[in-house]
Amino acid sequence: MAQPLAREVAEEVAKLNGVCVRPVALRRLDIVTGKEEIIDAPCGATLESKCPSCAKRNRQLRMAQCREGWHLAEEPVISPDAATEEQRWLIEFRADMQARRDAAAKHGEDPSDWDAVLVGLDEEINIAGMRGHVCGRTAPKRVRSTRRRQDAPDLPKRKMTNTTLGRTFESADGKVYRPSLFVTLTLPSYGRVRDGVPVDPETYDYGRAARDALHFSKLVDRFVQNLRRVAGYDVQYFASVEPQKRLAPHLHMAIRGTLPRAEVKQIAAATYHQVWWPPCDQVRFEGEHLPIWQDGVGYVDPDTGEVLPTWDQALDELDQDDTAEPLHVIRFGDQVDVKGVAAGTPDADQCIRYLSKYLTKSLGENLNGRAQREHAARFVEALRYEPCSPTCPNWLRYGVQPKGAKAGMAPGRCRSKAHKPEHLGYAGRRVLVSRKWSNKTLAEHKQDRRTWVLEALGQADAPTDPHRYVWSQVKPGDPDLAPIGVRLLRSVAERQRWRAHLRELEVRANGQDLSATGEEAA
Ligand SMILES: [Zn+2]
Ligand SMILES: [Zn+2]
Repeated sequence: MAQPLAREVAEEVAKLNGVCVRPVALRRLDIVTGKEEIIDAPCGATLESKCPSCAKRNRQLRMAQCREGWHLAEEPVISPDAATEEQRWLIEFRADMQARRDAAAKHGEDPSDWDAVLVGLDEEINIAGMRGHVCGRTAPKRVRSTRRRQDAPDLPKRKMTNTTLGRTFESADGKVYRPSLFVTLTLPSYGRVRDGVPVDPETYDYGRAARDALHFSKLVDRFVQNLRRVAGYDVQYFASVEPQKRLAPHLHMAIRGTLPRAEVKQIAAATYHQVWWPPCDQVRFEGEHLPIWQDGVGYVDPDTGEVLPTWDQALDELDQDDTAEPLHVIRFGDQVDVKGVAAGTPDADQCIRYLSKYLTKSLGENLNGRAQREHAARFVEALRYEPCSPTCPNWLRYGVQPKGAKAGMAPGRCRSKAHKPEHLGYAGRRVLVSRKWSNKTLAEHKQDRRTWVLEALGQADAPTDPHRYVWSQVKPGDPDLAPIGVRLLRSVAERQRWRAHLRELEVRANGQDLSATGEEAA
């Protein structure tokens, strides 16, 4: 038993070689040669997959993306690529389906089946690499009464100029400086904390901490809006959301261009977000006493048979109530850190490393000791019945039908990430990159590296004909699928062949440093 398992050894070797340890097996049929084989695709490392090799690679890609955009000297050109044949076909097909849907609706038929088809098609269109939505929003956006509109806070406002670049400064000797900012924003205090654990868990405001975490991304959006208004240009940013020791999310943000430090602090202090959701301070249904689903009707009160207000009705009621208060108002805490960073300095490099430091860790991971695990457990408990979104089944507890209500919903059983111990309320994206940051998507950065390696190897990176291969899934237990240990070692051998080849090229190129970036890209 003291002998390590062959599989574990193979996994260790794979990790050491930067090879994906959770490969996804795909069957590939080459319709030109007729050859069929199983290909191992890298898992791509989502937080759930926990593949250290892909996580490391993702982190390096993010760092490259961050570096490229931070001190951009020229305006990024945003020109979408020409549509491919498949993309054009999808759009035409969608137009066709839309026409049929509209015709059905016009003849008084229920168009919901067609709507479902359209939703699926829109997903396909996005998967096919097209951004945005063909017809903008399909559902009309709710118009709120003026009173409820979030006011722009009282902040200085500069005239908007049409640029994404920050100002430059020239020194006496003619050297041009391109200063940028590194900003850290934190949520307020919920009670005293020592070593990431509340000193007094009884008085620590878990309820507020939970709501703040749930709505954190909205607050960040507001901050960016205010920042742009004050700065007077189209400010671009690369930000990452990370867990603090006390398990609250906080934000590191690389900002292109610069503003006076005091002004950034002023913006952070003035920024807030109001959550206009129905009240949920009164529990109406719990335990076994829960609303009952009736087909074609919705959820009804188990005692009176009265239909509970739908999400839209509850919002309308809120709009008409002049005394209504927002469910929650979220603001940043006093701790705002603003740092000036110049292009190409070790300081800038350190910030970039810092920005991607936690990318591979989830919020509730790496808990230190019993006290912190208990703290996390109390946090999860506070999130248990907190509605995380309009569609959250927890609304039933407070007598409102969730948006898109359907049979089988029960409070406390929401499956959204927000309630899970590893997310602790924050289910949003961990990396937030503004649209005109580096002019490239992550996929394009990936392609850059691939092109680089292929060039180094003297191979042209010609795009393969998308119709040449037919891909299908490989089911576990497929007799053609080799054991995972064998597959990993095969990938390692392949990786080592690449490396050897690169090293050879390096020697031939006589001193040219190919290995540094090439190894990571391979
Ligand atoms: Zn992987
Ligand atoms: Zn939920």
